[in-house]
Amino acid sequence: MVKHHRALGLATAPLGVTCGIDIANGHPAQPVTLVRPHAAARAARFFVEKFPGRSMYAVKANPSPDLLQILWDNGITHYDVASIAEVRLVARTLPGAILCFMHPVKAEEAIRDAYETYGVRTFSLDSIEELEKIMRATNGATDLTLCVRLRVSSDLSKLSLASKFGAVPGETKELLFAARQAADALGICFHVGSQAMAPDAYANAMERVREAIVEAAVTVDVIDVGGGFPSVYPGMEPTSLERYFETIHRCFESLPISYSAELWAEPGRALCAEYSSLIVRVERRRGDELYINDGAYGALFDAAHIGWRFPVRLLREPASNTREMPFSFYGPTCDDLDHMAGPFELPADIRAGDYIEIGMLGAYGAAMRTAFNGFGSDETVIVTDEPMASLYVEPETEVASNVVTL
Ligand SMILES: *Cc1c(COP(=O)(O)O)cnc(C)c1O
Repeated sequence: MVKHHRALGLATAPLGVTCGIDIANGHPAQPVTLVRPHAAARAARFFVEKFPGRSMYAVKANPSPDLLQILWDNGITHYDVASIAEVRLVARTLPGAILCFMHPVKAEEAIRDAYETYGVRTFSLDSIEELEKIMRATNGATDLTLCVRLRVSSDLSKLSLASKFGAVPGETKELLFAARQAADALGICFHVGSQAMAPDAYANAMERVREAIVEAAVTVDVIDVGGGFPSVYPGMEPTSLERYFETIHRCFESLPISYSAELWAEPGRALCAEYSSLIVRVERRRGDELYINDGAYGALFDAAHIGWRFPVRLLREPASNTREMPFSFYGPTCDDLDHMAGPFELPADIRAGDYIEIGMLGAYGAAMRTAFNGFGSDETVIVTDEPMASLYVEPETEVASNVVTL
């Protein structure tokens, strides 16, 4: 159920108080997801206006239909989908959207259905077998944009995508050549890994693209730099996205490709990380360990399984004035794996019954939720206050809002 909660968004009221109103009224026993449509809208507009090419949203980062609609309303017209279920979801939610099937290993039935029923014309591949599969599934279509995925380094990213997909140097020449024969438009794509912490991740990958083009001597119509655009988390504060865009643009301009070649990107995380956060309740405290009501099998998969740190704040009125100390979290299931090491900095007097907001969960948070062990909740509240961190709010604005909210 979605409730609108405008009171939470009053810029003049301290956040602890406004969130406190909600909690005082409800004392929610289940985790509550807060969504911030304005933050997703701002991210979409930023990419649409500033990325020097086309931005398509990587749906897997957060497939919420409400979010898809917000991105569409703010200028995102193309969507990177990886399964037939994602194809159907986006087609149903946004009938005008253009879908690109960018998973390099697809089911043949999925390709056929995407092509025939949903008008999908763009597919990625990283092997001759996949190329043959695509040609079989589309009855030798001559209107395809085929993007050959190259394997590139994930060294500058927090989450590797370097071992599973992508053609390696010995394979690219033959593959680009074969795809060129079959395609109406030929693309080259890659993924530098998620949460790329430096623009050079893209510069290095573009160097691989250059080598591949020179070696195969083919005409390339599309360069797709994939996802990997970062968001902000504790201990992970990247430079501005404009710097990433500048690097990509400079490399793109210097590639041996035709004047009419297009530049694409597939941002997932960067478009939706700021979209949502989660309010959890502390059910028990044991020293510096807090037992909270969401975890590894809920929206906190990354916090548990890859040690991702998210910003946290205690929602208590009056606010605690105790010093902060590091805590780790246990989730609600009966499983030792349901543990999030953090550290999460919270006031030292935190206790059972307190509520915590965990920020920046819009990407790969809600999308990973399960109902394992009977936990988890769909309760969602729309708020209009600022996310706990932002790559899109000008620094001056950020300082000003911190003065108000802290
Ligand atoms: C996951 C994925 C993305 C999105 O990656 P982010 O790091 O979230 O931007 C884009 N393209 C492909 C092919 C992906 O698998």
